[in-house]
Amino acid sequence: MSEPFLEISGIGRRFSGFVALDGVSAVFQPNRVTAVIGPNGAGKSTLFNVLSGVLPPSSGSIRFKGRDLTGTKQHRFAHLGIARSYQITTIFQALSVHENVRVAAQALRTRYDIWRDRRRLRELDDRADAALAAVGLSARRHDPARSLGHGQQRALEIAIALVAEPELLLLDEPTAGMGPEETRDMVGLIERLAADRTILLVEHKMKMILGLSDRILVLHHGRLIADGTPAQVQADPEVRRVYLGQSHGYA
Ligand code: ADP
Ligand code: MG
Repeated sequence: MSEPFLEISGIGRRFSGFVALDGVSAVFQPNRVTAVIGPNGAGKSTLFNVLSGVLPPSSGSIRFKGRDLTGTKQHRFAHLGIARSYQITTIFQALSVHENVRVAAQALRTRYDIWRDRRRLRELDDRADAALAAVGLSARRHDPARSLGHGQQRALEIAIALVAEPELLLLDEPTAGMGPEETRDMVGLIERLAADRTILLVEHKMKMILGLSDRILVLHHGRLIADGTPAQVQADPEVRRVYLGQSHGYA
């Protein structure tokens, strides 16, 4: 049998004595959309931090395309094909939309002497342009980032993640703070990106998750309590129990 695209085995993460992730295991196929859901504090962002190299796991292992990533430094993750959307605060508001993406492309190229090579400078521009086109921001490339609306800023964060040309893209609450219209645009963007990428997303909007995801993982107190298709997870009695009484509702 060939290696799975991504396999996490027994991932645990502690903060002092607190157990944020507890023995999380899952295997992922390429080019699928998987949603990670669970109540606040369930460990969703911690899982993404571990998967993107921001935090090392306290226990367990990550294998990506046949390579053991356990203990790999964060900057290597982007080079290996794993990227996540940045928090909105990492956008340079005074720089143009294009400059924001270009800076990110440049940061990936620190090992080369890019300043002496015009071809490489052009390549950085092309990469930035491609990332902006992928998120539908080409027309705004010269505008300052601060002039973008909230939804477009989130799209810009995704463009910044895309310059690494990731095969695995992690999106942590991409529609947070969005109204229905911006959410619809973001869903359309995620669907387009999912055509040739593997996407993991943390989300709270259940209708969106059910329509968009091939698979849903449910975390609760750091443990994986369900893993299946949207229909399977919706019918799961433990998932229903966990979500009962949650203000954002379920299904
Ligand atoms: P979620 O994204 O599901 O809301 P998180 O993964 O952010 O949850 O957090 C899970 C738990 O781990 C929470 O109780 C949170 O307070 C704790 N936690 C997360 N990151 C840290 C950290 N860097 N230091 C200490 N505790 C943390
Ligand atoms: Mg979170």
